[in-house]
Amino acid sequence: AKSAGRNRFHFFTRALGVAAQERLQQEQALKSALQNQEIYVEYQPKVDFSSDELVGVEALVRWRRNGQVVSPAQFIPVAEDSGQIVEIGRHVLRTACRDACEVLVGPLFSVPVAVNVSIRQLTDPGFIGDLKAALAESGLPGHALEIEVTESVLMQNMEAAAEVLGKIKALGVRIAIDDFGTGYSSLAYLASLPVDVLKIDKFFVDAYATHPKNMAVITAIIDLAQHLRLDVIAEGVETRSQADFLLAHGCRCMQGFYFSRPLSLAALQEYAKRMQTE
Ligand code: C2E
Ligand code: CA
Ligand code: CA
Ligand code: CA
Repeated sequence: AKSAGRNRFHFFTRALGVAAQERLQQEQALKSALQNQEIYVEYQPKVDFSSDELVGVEALVRWRRNGQVVSPAQFIPVAEDSGQIVEIGRHVLRTACRDACEVLVGPLFSVPVAVNVSIRQLTDPGFIGDLKAALAESGLPGHALEIEVTESVLMQNMEAAAEVLGKIKALGVRIAIDDFGTGYSSLAYLASLPVDVLKIDKFFVDAYATHPKNMAVITAIIDLAQHLRLDVIAEGVETRSQADFLLAHGCRCMQGFYFSRPLSLAALQEYAKRMQTE
């Protein structure tokens, strides 16, 4: 038993060592990715299903590594741990503001671009300065930018979150609570935040048909948004029946593969033009 224990210990430290090594390698790779401009942004349309109008886009970061696209779900956690998320986030913010000025905000129509922000970014002392700089250098008006913060991030550090959200709001920038319904926010806390949009998590959109309780969660979020006078949007809409269900329950704005996958800037431009003329 003793030797088995020792073996297990051995195995454990070795596994940790490998994991730590992989982390370090990922960090190094991310560092050169930023330098070599392998980090770029795609845009997923947000659509009003009742009128088929483009109502916004979400910027989603991508890493092209040796010709293959790495998912943000893989490298954001690493970047979050190492602090590299601050630099990556700054790059995404600047790119999104510049692209939005070129494509989304014009004399014909104007929709906001949403950028995801993690806890590390939100609580970075330079964040508000970066935000101001991105708006100033692109010329994008504050109301054409939206910050998406996940519900769990807000719950992690409520006081700090409330303070920085106030500063974001003071720039005229809109605030969306992402993955809403998964983080058990207290309603009193939610009502006290300067929030503009609730974004219903894909989990509920997927599961409403199989589990009646999820249907109740969706309709409760839509009601809550109406009572608090917030906009509401559903993410991860993949089928016509999901879209029909959401619309029937008063949620007009949606995002998901049913409407479009995330697109390059050029493809987004085509998509926006097509929607306008249809
Ligand atoms: P999220 O903010 O919840 O973004 C939605 C994710 O769902 C995106 O994955 C999007 O491509 C995907 N998606 C959209 N519609 C559908 C659909 O109909 N079906 C399915 N199965 N998926 C759909 P992506 O781009 O891989 O991003 C994953 C997560 O990484 C994001 O989740 C967000 O939390 C994070 N992320 C992405 N870009 C950034 C960024 O610039 N900064 C930070 N901090 N996080 C980011
Ligand atoms: Ca998001
Ligand atoms: Ca989300
Ligand atoms: Ca989600």
